[in-house]
Amino acid sequence: MSHIRAAIETHRERFLAEFCEFLSFPSESSNVEGLAGAADWVTNRLAVLDARVQVLSAGGDAPPAIFGEVGTGARSLFSYSHYDVQPPDPLEQWESPPYQATVRDGKLYARGAVDDKGDTLARIHAAEIYRAVYGELPLRLKFFVEGEEEVGSPHLAALAERHADLLRADGAIWEGGGFDDAERYTFYCGVKGIAYLELRIRGAAYDLHSGYAPMAPNPAWRLVRALSTLKDDRDNITVDGLLAHVRPPTAAELAYIRRIPFDGAQMKANWGLDAFVNGMGDEEALARFITAPTCTICGLRSGFIEEGEKTVLPSAAMVKLDFRLVPDLTPELVTRLLREHLNRRGYTDIEIHPAAGMVGARSDVNAPLVQTAIAAARAVYGHEPVVYPSHGGSGPMHALVQGVGTPAGLIAGVCYPGMRMHAPNENVRLDDYFRHIEFLVEFMRRFADNETT
Ligand SMILES: [Zn+2]
Repeated sequence: MSHIRAAIETHRERFLAEFCEFLSFPSESSNVEGLAGAADWVTNRLAVLDARVQVLSAGGDAPPAIFGEVGTGARSLFSYSHYDVQPPDPLEQWESPPYQATVRDGKLYARGAVDDKGDTLARIHAAEIYRAVYGELPLRLKFFVEGEEEVGSPHLAALAERHADLLRADGAIWEGGGFDDAERYTFYCGVKGIAYLELRIRGAAYDLHSGYAPMAPNPAWRLVRALSTLKDDRDNITVDGLLAHVRPPTAAELAYIRRIPFDGAQMKANWGLDAFVNGMGDEEALARFITAPTCTICGLRSGFIEEGEKTVLPSAAMVKLDFRLVPDLTPELVTRLLREHLNRRGYTDIEIHPAAGMVGARSDVNAPLVQTAIAAARAVYGHEPVVYPSHGGSGPMHALVQGVGTPAGLIAGVCYPGMRMHAPNENVRLDDYFRHIEFLVEFMRRFADNETT
C-alpha cells in the first residue's frame, strides 16, 4: 500500500492547492454567484478527470446537481456529496477568513472543509490516484454533487426519480463519517427518516377572559390531552399501530451496536442529567438511539407565555412534532396513523400539517459494500473500524440509494470531533484527508472485485 501513499505524496501540494481553490467559493444557499462558481468548478474538475459529465437541473433557478461518471467495469459505485455550505457567521469568530483556506497546525481551515467539499474532492483525488497506481478504474464511479443539501435538498427526490437509471449502482458512499474521539474510524450504515408535523387546534374566534373557562372550551387543554395519548409513562410511542411497522434490529445489527464504544456516564455528565429515559443502561440506550423511532415535542405554543401574568383563555394551540423514522415507517404512514389515532379518540378538530418528510435508509450491515469498507479501513487505518447500523440523525439517503434500487449506502468521510462543522473555524485535518484518499483507493479496488475480506 506504500505505493498508494507514495503517489499521494507526489501530488500532495497540487491536491492541497486545488482544495483551497474549491474552498474559495462562498457557495451558501443565498449566494447565487458562489453556488454557480462552485458548481462550475466541480463540473470542470470532473471533466479534467475525464468523467462523462452531466449538469442535472434541479428545476427553475435551483442550483444544479453535477453528475460525472468515470471508469469501466461490471460494478458501479455511487458517491453522494454537496458543494453548498452553511453561512459562516458569526464572522468575527473566525481566526482566518472563511473563504481563504488557511493551514494551521496541520489543519485546513475554511467553510466547507469537512462539510462537504473535503468529501467531494477526496473522491475525485482518489480516482486520480487509483489511475496513477493501477491504471483505469475497474468500476464505474458515479459522482453526484448537489447544491441544496444545507437547505434540506428540496428537489432531490424528484431529481432521483427522473434519473434513477443514471444514479443506480451496486453501492453508494455518502458524506460524513470519520474519526471518533478515541481516533477510531467510524462508519454509519444509514440514517433515520423524519416526519415533521404541526398540529393545530382552534377554540373561540379570539382569546377570551379566563373567567369564561367554565363555559368556553380551551384548545390548549385539548391539545395537551391529545398529546398525552401519543406516549406512555415508559416513553413508548402509543400511536395506534405505529410500532407494528418498526423492523426489529437484527442479530448482526445488535452485535455491531455492542461493539460501539459508548460512554453513557460522560454523555449524561455533558448533558447535566442523572439518568437516561427509564434509567436505561448504556447498551439499551445506545441500541434505542440507533434503532428506535421517536415522537418528540419540539415546541408548544398557546396563549400567554411572556413574563408576568395575563389571565387569558387561548383561542388556539399549536405543537411542532418530529418523528424520527426507522424502517419500515414512512412520513405518509406516520401521518395517516396519527390522523386515525386522533380521530378514534374524537380529536377530529386537531389539524395535522406535514412540514417536511423523508424516508429513512438502513443498509444491511452484512452487505458486501459495508464488509468491503470494513476490510479496507482495517487495512488502511490499522484498526477495527466502528460500525453504526444507523445514524441517529436524518438525511436524504433513501431517495438516492434504496429509492433508485441501489442495495446499500454507507457514510464514510473526513470528519473528526474537532471539525467545527456548521460553526466558525470549520477545519479538516490534512493527514485525515490524504489518508482518506488512500482508504478510498483501497476500497474501490476491493469493491470492484467484490472482495469483502
Ligand atoms: Zn453536509
